[in-house]
Amino acid sequence: MPVSRAKPGVWCDYCKVRYAKGSPLHGKAASWTVTSEASDTLGQERHYCQSCSEIVCQWGDEIWELQDQIDYRVKRQGERLDV
Ligand SMILES: [Zn+2]
Repeated sequence: MPVSRAKPGVWCDYCKVRYAKGSPLHGKAASWTVTSEASDTLGQERHYCQSCSEIVCQWGDEIWELQDQIDYRVKRQGERLDV
């Protein structure tokens, strides 16, 4: 999956999901943009700040790629990290 530097003014999707609206942590500037290559979400972009990109890739002693987690979550719960 292509990962690139996030554009200025883009917020972290993960923080938006983790923290309630109104929390100062809800709107955090993104550092990374991940572009989906899955057929049903082709071209969709996910944005992560630096700390979230590290947290979400670290899974115990293993690294679990962001896109795999998103796909897993969609399969398991029918949810999407809506932008
Ligand atoms: Zn974040």
